[in-house]
Amino acid sequence: MSPTNLEIAELLAHRGEEADGHRAKAYERAAGAALYWDTEASEVANGGGSLEELDYVGPSLARRIAEWLRESADAPEPPPKRAGFSSFARARSVLADAPGWEGRLRSDLQMHTTYSDGKSSIREMALGAAALGYTHLAITDHSQGLKIAGGMDAARLAQQAAEISAVNAEMDAEGFDLTILHGLEMNLDGRGEGDMEAETLEPLDMVVGSFHSALRSTDDQTGRYLGALANPHVQIIGHPSCRRFNRRPGLTADWPRVMEAAAHSGIALEINAHPHRQDLSLDLLRLAADAGVTLSIGTDAHDPQELRFAPMSLARAAEAGVDPGNIVNFWSRSELSEWIARLGQP
Ligand SMILES: [Zn+2]
Repeated sequence: MSPTNLEIAELLAHRGEEADGHRAKAYERAAGAALYWDTEASEVANGGGSLEELDYVGPSLARRIAEWLRESADAPEPPPKRAGFSSFARARSVLADAPGWEGRLRSDLQMHTTYSDGKSSIREMALGAAALGYTHLAITDHSQGLKIAGGMDAARLAQQAAEISAVNAEMDAEGFDLTILHGLEMNLDGRGEGDMEAETLEPLDMVVGSFHSALRSTDDQTGRYLGALANPHVQIIGHPSCRRFNRRPGLTADWPRVMEAAAHSGIALEINAHPHRQDLSLDLLRLAADAGVTLSIGTDAHDPQELRFAPMSLARAAEAGVDPGNIVNFWSRSELSEWIARLGQP
């Protein structure tokens, strides 16, 4: 069997660890990109296409990959920082065998704009969501504590609220059936506490609470999750384990206990669709499915093209046996706002 994109990612990453300088960097970048290539490299090669059409594949990597495909190279067992990932091409084939999942998606509830570290405007992201047939989306830029990602203070957040109202009015007048929700990816500390004042959060439609610090700690982190799940301002916990492909394996916790607490709180855990995150992982999603946890799909897109990654999460949810009724992105705008109101608003 020719290696799949997922196996090619491992072969590339493994090779990158043995190379140095810019060669290592090239392997590493291509390994990350292999997770989101649209088509299996084997299909590209068999169809007579050039492997150089694939993101981050130049002439020399194309020759290397062609050789692996020809020789049916075996990928090594991935180390923890790359274990348990899937690929976009694989997700597409999982969904082809699981009809009814993709068509139900009505929203994307985590993305960034130029208000923090995103590359595009609110309107560009909204047009991207409209093109995917969604009825709503949440703009969730970073909060003030995350300086490195251009986190927003209260004044900047108010400015963004005004722009979202204006774009909503504009798009409504243009005939779009789309609502932009004003969210925030609020930075949470080690106790699950946010970094914004309660009155600043109050006008928001929703808050995604995420951890961005001490992510390589190997100590048990159950406490920070229980803290976050008791935070009255948070409706969704973003990229819960905080793992990152080829960088870190994610936090350690008593996950069955965290899932119980999540199910009890009604707060959603995110299935972050970004190919380099895929967080919750399949293993954690199975625990979440068993506990009946509410789940939210967010692409964490930083430009409109990245909005296309939602199938990564849908495929994992289907594989984990998640009850589709527990996925908030399958709900209508009014069902979503009723849920947020039940949780007590931001
Ligand atoms: Zn984040």
